[in-house]
Amino acid sequence: MEDRFGCAPLPIRPDRIVSLLEELAAFSDPPSPGVTRILFSPPDLAARTWLKARCQEQGLAIREDAAGNLFARWVGREPDLPAIATGSHIDAVPHSGRFDGTVGVVGALEAFRALRQSGFRPKRSLELVVFTAEEPTRFGVSCLGSRLLAGRMRPEDLERLQDEAGESFPRLRERAGLAQLPLSALAPPHYAAFLELHIEQGPVLEGTGEAIGAVEAIAAPAAYRVRWEGVSGHAGTLLMPDRRDALAGAAEAILAVERAAKESESLDTVATVGEIAVSPGALNSVAGSVSFGIDLRDSDPRRRERVARAMRQSLGEIAKRRGLKLSWQILYEDPPAACDPALVAQILESADRLGLRARRMISRAYHDSLFLALLCPVAMIFIPCRGGKSHCPEEYSSPEQIEAGVHVLADCLRALAG
Ligand SMILES: [Zn+2]
Repeated sequence: MEDRFGCAPLPIRPDRIVSLLEELAAFSDPPSPGVTRILFSPPDLAARTWLKARCQEQGLAIREDAAGNLFARWVGREPDLPAIATGSHIDAVPHSGRFDGTVGVVGALEAFRALRQSGFRPKRSLELVVFTAEEPTRFGVSCLGSRLLAGRMRPEDLERLQDEAGESFPRLRERAGLAQLPLSALAPPHYAAFLELHIEQGPVLEGTGEAIGAVEAIAAPAAYRVRWEGVSGHAGTLLMPDRRDALAGAAEAILAVERAAKESESLDTVATVGEIAVSPGALNSVAGSVSFGIDLRDSDPRRRERVARAMRQSLGEIAKRRGLKLSWQILYEDPPAACDPALVAQILESADRLGLRARRMISRAYHDSLFLALLCPVAMIFIPCRGGKSHCPEEYSSPEQIEAGVHVLADCLRALAG
């Protein structure tokens, strides 16, 4: 049986997707029901082994690099042509959900399986890419794997990374059995296109009742590390006029960060201080030093820069007034990604062909696609998630919602691979 475009209908199986997601969610540090899967932790390593077995079952050719990026290729009829890539990540921030990233990985596997079962034989190779450490949890850098592939981070920088426990990336990599593998940036035209299926992580699609979001642009994120040096002392004997309290200064600064984002003329500007380290960190000690990170995002890089400048100026004034030493380190300032108009049109066309309502939209969250956009045309397929919630155990997309996204992905891959 063929559809009106001469293609066999794709036998996507939502029950298979759900059981794969369930199996993957079981690789987690406690407590359940949240999922915690941090780069190179035992659950992460077990999940990688499990995933490679699922790829091998399908006869995909597997390659890994020294950063832990995993490539699983369905070799096409013309293997020398640049491949069509798809994929996402399987690491999960502490106490998060089971759908972020994983839907794009498991969904791609199911799309490949259904395409193969329908009799499709791709001209271009199809490649599933599972990127290392999309989340910054362990090393403070988002999209570690895709950043390296796109040449936005040098391999030397990777060698210097250390987590908070003082474990170095090279040491962890060695324990993960990846040390002997090559690490290289990809050079265009390695891929002809990259498509990422992902939950929206926001409320737009649920609100409009649409099944598919075709992402046209990904907001530009920047991250800064701010350190405050004051003088620590005894909470009883160091009198108020003599204090240079790093934590009191940092508290004032966090409110200034919030104010700078609120005073931007656009709702697209968002700024967050989500973690802070205080030293010595005792109830009866005045804080001598404090460090916190600022996450600043915007869809307009110029506006983001203006807001960052305003923040930095306010923080400088606070430091001066309080006699504190301030250092401001840029962790990254990434450019926004524009998605490829032809790929966006392909997503909309596939959705239409499948009778699914779709809309064009912006991604306000960070994704590996942001970096792949430096290597090849990219686009993202969003599906709704309940209440727009993500990075928490309540994160949820229904089997039908995921099935719709996988169907659109498979249809696009079929069209692109030829
Ligand atoms: Zn994600």
